[in-house]
Amino acid sequence: MEKYDIIIAGAGASGMMASISAAREGMKVLLLEKMEKAGKKILITGKGRCNLTNTKEWSEFSRHIYPNPSFFKIAFKTFSNKDVLNFFNEIGVETVIERGDRAYPASGKASDIVKALLSEIERLKVRVQLNSRVCDIVLNEGSVYKVKVESGQGVQEIETSALIVTTGGLSYPLTGSTGDGHYFAKQIGLGINKTLPSLTAMKPVNFDLSLKGLLLKNVQTKLFVGKDILQEEFGDIEFTNNGFEGPIGLRISRKAVKAMSDGNRVTLLVDLKPALTEEQLINRIDREFGNQVRIPLELILKKLLPSQMVPYFIEELKLGRSKILSKKLPGEIYLIVDTIKNWKINVESYTGFERCVVTSGGITLNELVPKTMATRTINNLFFAGEVIDLDGDTGGYNLQIAFSTGNLAGKSAAYLIKKSNTSS
Ligand SMILES: Cc1cc2nc3c(=O)[nH]c(=O)nc-3n(C[C@H](O)[C@H](O)[C@H](O)COP(=O)(O)OP(=O)(O)OC[C@H]3O[C@@H](n4cnc5c(N)ncnc54)[C@H](O)[C@@H]3O)c2cc1C
Repeated sequence: MEKYDIIIAGAGASGMMASISAAREGMKVLLLEKMEKAGKKILITGKGRCNLTNTKEWSEFSRHIYPNPSFFKIAFKTFSNKDVLNFFNEIGVETVIERGDRAYPASGKASDIVKALLSEIERLKVRVQLNSRVCDIVLNEGSVYKVKVESGQGVQEIETSALIVTTGGLSYPLTGSTGDGHYFAKQIGLGINKTLPSLTAMKPVNFDLSLKGLLLKNVQTKLFVGKDILQEEFGDIEFTNNGFEGPIGLRISRKAVKAMSDGNRVTLLVDLKPALTEEQLINRIDREFGNQVRIPLELILKKLLPSQMVPYFIEELKLGRSKILSKKLPGEIYLIVDTIKNWKINVESYTGFERCVVTSGGITLNELVPKTMATRTINNLFFAGEVIDLDGDTGGYNLQIAFSTGNLAGKSAAYLIKKSNTSS
């Protein structure tokens, strides 16, 4: 039976990086991937452009990592965002930094990231076996001894000195991430924190599809559970087929989904004109219409809102489409201003794992040694990437988690094997 120093289960961002860091330490590495090709998820990242990291300093970067950025600090410091950029530059990928410190390949093609990783993997003579699903881990005297792999040829057993599980979370299962690593962890008795979709679309009650395609720039939002504010954000919201998303919609989704899964109702309050107070808005309406005393509601809304929102707001205000407002009745003008400053969106549901960007929850961090990514109970078993309970905001944070933890697991597994080779 063939034996490897290190087997890596899952050829996504984390597994490919782990295989490179282990092979660079001289290890004999086998990278197993259940799909027909490696890196399927990378291909769809950043809308096909792959936002591979974010160049913020750790003090700022760490604010975008959940639930425990200090666990991630060692992996990040070992292979930081700057190291990720240097790494890709060295293997032939030019990178550019865009708005919000987001890094992308200069070609704008996520496929260039996958190609570069695979050619480095080939150069380092890592054996890659596609269409090969790790289906079981075999232990012997408290250590990983073999993995069982299902492929077209049936189930094969392969011996290894260490195993790194990088099977991903549960998001976009069509790319291959279907929670297999959570299953392995459960079998071995490791704790798993509840998994939920994160960075996902939120669907308003009675969602009006006429808002689809609308992009609201620089709005202020507050996420409420009952009367408590859970989160406040400033930025852009985008309406799609699935409800609202965009940078802010996605960012609040982590807490909103958690609250809803705990049985709470959540509400989003949007200030569509955060730069103006209510009084300033009333003055603006006054100025816009000069001496005109009777003003059609539709005309006021057209002055203040994107045209796509006007029919929706006419419905929302329940004043009737042909309503004429009078400046002599300031209560009615105030009602409009109040609705624009406090647009209330009751959230009904959210898009599930099938189309969310990332999984929150996963293998409990205190099962792992943050310096190595090894499990505390089985020293030659490592977990890295989205399978563990670490996730980030949009902006390149999640791929950095995958790259840093994968790199650390690969290096640590190599170090363990070298140490045991010298002591035997
Ligand atoms: C639409 C979308 C856009 C995104 N955009 C960005 C972005 O621009 N920037 C960013 O930072 N993050 C982005 N993310 C998140 C990021 O892609 C993931 O967090 C990251 O790829 C996770 O890497 P991973 O290697 O841990 O897991 P995955 O990429 O999910 O890889 C896991 C691999 O393991 C394989 N596998 C699973 N089970 C087995 C098994 N039993 N045996 C063998 N192989 C197995 C899977 O087939 C898969 O190839 C995006 C995610 C999505 C869905």
